[in-house]
This record gives sequence, structure tokens and C-alpha cells, in this order.
Amino acid sequence: MEVPNRERKSLKKQFENLHSNFKYHSGYVGANDNFKSECRICGYVQERNAQIGRLSRKGIEIQCDNCNEINRLRKDLINILDKIYKEKERAIKKESRTRNRKPTENKDET
Ligand SMILES: [Zn+2]
Repeated sequence: MEVPNRERKSLKKQFENLHSNFKYHSGYVGANDNFKSECRICGYVQERNAQIGRLSRKGIEIQCDNCNEINRLRKDLINILDKIYKEKERAIKKESRTRNRKPTENKDET
């Protein structure tokens, strides 16, 4: 049983209109079955149910699993870098404080 080209084209058009961050990739076989979508941001191909391409799903946001994972890793990385930066900063301040301190000058310390 072959899906009419017209039906596939209409799913593609409607899906891409509703979800501008994604495009149709392949595998459409029917309105209640899965097809493959491609993320326009990272290119990740993900299976979705064709019902997500229906007009009644307008306003429902779909997400890319790979983008979500990248964002999670990015946050982790930023936290790690931030921690390293603060540790370095603390070490440098400590070092310069001990280096600049003269035994007779202690009055500017609070
Ligand atoms: Zn993505």
C-alpha cells in the first residue's frame, strides 16, 4: 500500500508551517503513523507521530532531543568553567595579596 505523494506533500507542508524549527525528513506512511523529522538547528533526525502535523496541533511546541541534550551539556560546561574561573581568580588574588604585603604595612587591611 503506497501513500499518495499528495498526502505526503501536504503533511510536509503543514508540519513545516506549524513547526518552523523542523523539516520533514522521510518515512511518512499514514496520518497515525510515525515519520522522521529533521531539526533545522542541529540536523538531528527524530521520529514523530504524523498527528503532530495536524492543524489541531497548532501552538503545541515540539522539541529536539539533541538540542535539549546540547543545551544541558552547555549549561554543565558553563558551570564547570565558571567554577574553574572563580577558583583561579581566588588563587590569583590570594597570591598577589601575599606578594604585595610588606611586613610594615598592615593598616589597609580590613
Ligand atoms: Zn536539534
